[in-house]
Amino acid sequence: MNKKTGFVRKTKQREVILNVLRSTKTHPTADWVYQEVRKHMPNVSLGTIYRNLKTLTEMGEALELSYGSTYSRFDGNAKNHYHFVCQECGEVVDLDIPLMAQLEASVADAADVKVTDHRLEFYGQCEHCLSIGDMQQNQAN
Ligand code: ZN
Ligand code: MN
Repeated sequence: MNKKTGFVRKTKQREVILNVLRSTKTHPTADWVYQEVRKHMPNVSLGTIYRNLKTLTEMGEALELSYGSTYSRFDGNAKNHYHFVCQECGEVVDLDIPLMAQLEASVADAADVKVTDHRLEFYGQCEHCLSIGDMQQNQAN
């Protein structure tokens, strides 16, 4: 393979990976992306998926969300937005609330710094896990 086709193939791979990432709102793991991309490109390797997800994150096309001990999740929406993370089932959902620009101004004021970005995550129990909790409680009573 010459250099040019190698480049085209790499670009194509990255495009497919980004499309797969943008096709879901579930904030998938690299492994999930791998399973999906394989449907389009059976010969792709997990290593290629990891490398491309890293590149896409560096290019500002995707976000990597890491939650401590568990593996990273990826987001095809790189624009700043907030997430709710369920501590029971691990589900990560987008929050449809406006960005808190005032928060950046407060931090800039309080710390005498220039703020260019911020990240905010909310934790708790999702609707589904809450209803399971209610059911278990009702059975115990
Ligand atoms: Zn949950
Ligand atoms: Mn998101």
